[in-house]
Amino acid sequence: MGERERVDSATAAAAQKTIPPASDESRQAATVIAGLLARVAQAIDGRADELGRMDSVAGDGDHGIGMQRGSRAGAGAARTAAEAGAGAGTTLTEAGDAWSDEGGGTSGVLWGRMLQTLGQALGDDAPVNGRAVAAAVVEAKDVVMGFGKARVGDKTMIDAIVPFADDLTAAVDAGGALREAWPHAATVAEQAAQRTAELAAKLGRARSHGDKSIGTPDPGAVSFALVCTTVAEELARTAEGTP
Ligand code: ADP
Ligand code: MG
Repeated sequence: MGERERVDSATAAAAQKTIPPASDESRQAATVIAGLLARVAQAIDGRADELGRMDSVAGDGDHGIGMQRGSRAGAGAARTAAEAGAGAGTTLTEAGDAWSDEGGGTSGVLWGRMLQTLGQALGDDAPVNGRAVAAAVVEAKDVVMGFGKARVGDKTMIDAIVPFADDLTAAVDAGGALREAWPHAATVAEQAAQRTAELAAKLGRARSHGDKSIGTPDPGAVSFALVCTTVAEELARTAEGTP
């Protein structure tokens, strides 16, 4: 074997090693997920200045730029993974790794953890249905709460994540399909995020200026709800079959 072939076969082996085998169903879900994350990155782009302004009221003003960098990196990594034949789990895990590497700040780390947990929970084999997604979202919520130690009422993204996870679980348990359950839960998250305006920040860098934040919603809760509503809109759009 010549040097060239040796290098090529080593590269091919490495590529195969990083993409675990996946069911066809999970690969199709991975393509959908990569598309959703691309739309999420676009939506964050459009609201980055506003998120930064919100964070500057009581924090350091970097939430817009952090979410922009993180979501862009996450979407790029998801696309690469899906195009290489990865399943839903690996695609989400790769997106989470990239998001936490590039996103920076507390929210970058937490978003990384969320996507990695969703990926581990969904795996590369099982169908990505309502029950599986709701269970994965609950796991992601638990991991973020365990890691960040925030509770409901501390004025963080947890104030949007908890009602989102609860509503999604209730709808799916009642037999609802993901296409109906997700948008409903996204609306609940959006309302909960707006209600954080009434609270004073207690955690994160915003905590030392907590009172100043009264009247402004928590940027991390608002961006979480934005991700959820963007996914809901995209699910509805693709269901209609419009380009
Ligand atoms: P940083 O706080 O490091 O500047 P960002 O500005 O990107 O990071 O994100 C701020 C958001 O992160 C807050 O609005 C809040 O929603 C979320 N956050 C901060 N600390 C925590 C925590 N301990 N648990 C959950 N969310 C948190
Ligand atoms: Mg900040």
